[in-house]
Amino acid sequence: MLEDNTAGSSPFLLTCDHYGRIIPRALGDLGLPADEFERHIAWDVGIAGVADALSERLDAHLIAQRYSRLVIDCNRPPEAPSSIPRLSEATVIPGNEGLAAGAAQARRAAIFDPYHRRIDEVIGRRLRDNIPTVLVALHSFTPVYAGVARPWHIGTLYHRDTRLPPLLVKYLRAEPGLVVGDNEPYAVSDDTDYTIPVHGEKRGLMNSGIEIRQDLIADPAGQQQWADRLARIFAEIEAALRAQGLLPR
Ligand SMILES: [Zn+2]
Repeated sequence: MLEDNTAGSSPFLLTCDHYGRIIPRALGDLGLPADEFERHIAWDVGIAGVADALSERLDAHLIAQRYSRLVIDCNRPPEAPSSIPRLSEATVIPGNEGLAAGAAQARRAAIFDPYHRRIDEVIGRRLRDNIPTVLVALHSFTPVYAGVARPWHIGTLYHRDTRLPPLLVKYLRAEPGLVVGDNEPYAVSDDTDYTIPVHGEKRGLMNSGIEIRQDLIADPAGQQQWADRLARIFAEIEAALRAQGLLPR
């Protein structure tokens, strides 16, 4: 786990479930060739640089998972079959096949539980201290999935919150030349997601996910450019939420 700006002043609390691609030494390479770890199946390509820079620009607390989603996916309910994927897109993950229940439980205890316990603690502390908190989950997506090209540059992903996501769509669509997905390429559901349903919705926080197309943030220049843009947009959103009385003035 990685944290930045733990005492940050921003109401936005940033999470990044697929920030890193570390594999615990005991698991070796999960039976995969090295180039598979360059792909989106191992992590959200480019999002770490965006998350670090955005956390800094906004002075926002960031909580990020440095272990690969191939070990255990921190944005899936642990009981979902995709929690420890045997197949990701079209790639078989040999190290995840025929996994004993105890081995799956050990991955959960070592990686999934501490990450979500920490997010839960931070939200609990903020609520107790009356610190306004808006949850933003940062992700990236592959431009082509299972042979289908995706036209969006960025998308929102959400389910039950009706406050933050429309503002996010509105401000993103005001950016010249951006193709913005409204709950595309993914929507959030209780069966396929964890961070937003559990930490955002169950806590009653305003929340949304953001998905940036990974080819736009493949290098540091793209990551900085997107962090700058999102920092500007989140400042506008923060002002709009204050004007609406959804954040203290
Ligand atoms: Zn992701």
